[in-house]
Amino acid sequence: MSVLPKPIPPLYTVYILRSTVRRASLYVGSTPHPPRRLKQHNGESKGGAVRTSRSTLRPWEMVGLVSGFPGMVAALKFEWALTNSHLSLHIPSTSRINVATQKKRNGHPKRPPHSVTSILSNLHLLLRVPSFARLPIKLHFFAPDVHRAWIKWCGTSNEPLRDTINVVTDFGLAANASTEGDKEITDATSQPWGIYALSLDYAPIKDYVEKTQSAFAFEREGDCVVCGEGLNPGEGLYAACSNAGCEGVGHVSCWSEHLLGKEKNDSIIPVSGRCPKCEGQVRWGEMMMEMSLRLRGQKEISKLLKKPRKRKAAISNDT
Ligand SMILES: [Zn+2]
Ligand SMILES: [Zn+2]
Repeated sequence: MSVLPKPIPPLYTVYILRSTVRRASLYVGSTPHPPRRLKQHNGESKGGAVRTSRSTLRPWEMVGLVSGFPGMVAALKFEWALTNSHLSLHIPSTSRINVATQKKRNGHPKRPPHSVTSILSNLHLLLRVPSFARLPIKLHFFAPDVHRAWIKWCGTSNEPLRDTINVVTDFGLAANASTEGDKEITDATSQPWGIYALSLDYAPIKDYVEKTQSAFAFEREGDCVVCGEGLNPGEGLYAACSNAGCEGVGHVSCWSEHLLGKEKNDSIIPVSGRCPKCEGQVRWGEMMMEMSLRLRGQKEISKLLKKPRKRKAAISNDT
C-alpha cells in the first residue's frame, strides 16, 4: 500500500439534503463537517451550493448520510456516482433505477430528478460494487420516513448488503412525536442529535492512539503477531491491534493477509477480523486510521492527546 500524504480524516461524509419546505427537493453532497456544511446550504455562512441558494426552499435538513470514507477522494467518487447514477460506470446500466430519457443540448444524457427512492436505490447498488463495498461504511438516517423508505427498498432487493455495513438511526425528539408531519419545534439546548451528535474529531480512537503511541515510543513493537518475525522500530509499515490492553503489532501486509483469510484471492482490502494475539475483533478502517495518524499526523495526535491544563493550585510533593 502507498503511504498516505495526510492522515485519514476522522470523518468524511456523503449526505442527502432535503428542503423542509418542498420535500421533493433533494440534493446530494459531501463534507468532512456536516453541521458547518448545513449552515452554508441554509445561507447562515458563506459557501453554499447555487442549487440550494433559493430562499423559498430554505431551510434544508440532512435526512441521511454515509460515513466511513478514508478521505475526500473516495467521498467525491461516491458522491459523483450517487448523483450521476445515469452515467456512472460503477453501476451497470441494466440495474440502474433512473434511466436517462432526456438528453442535454450537447447530446449527453440528462440527469433525471432525484427522489428519495431513486437516491436510496442507487445507494444500495453503490454499496454493493467492489470499489465501495469494502470501505468501513456506516449509514445514518435522521428522518423516520427516509429510513422507512430504505427498509422498504432493502426488503424488495434480492441482493443483500454486506453485514459489515452499519446502519444507525437518530431521529432526536421527532421519534417521540406521534406523527412526523407536524414536527414540533425542538428545544435547541436539548441533547444534540442527528448531525450534531456526530463525532467530528479523533476522540473515539483516543485510547487506541494513546496506547500505540506509548508502545512505539518505548519500542515495544516486539514480534509480528502474524508471522512471528521481529519488528525493527522505526522501519516498515506496522499496524497495531485496536483492543485495549493488547499490544499486538504486525506488518501491514501480514495483518491484511490474516484478516482477508479465505477472501485473499478475490479482494485486496480487508474489512474486519480477529487479532491473533487477543482474539478480539479489529476493524481494518480503524487500524488504518490509527496508522495514518502515527505516520503522518503528529500535529493531530498532539491535539488529541493534549491534556487539559492542570489547576493552578497544584500540590507540590517535593520535600
Ligand atoms: Zn509479519
Ligand atoms: Zn489484539
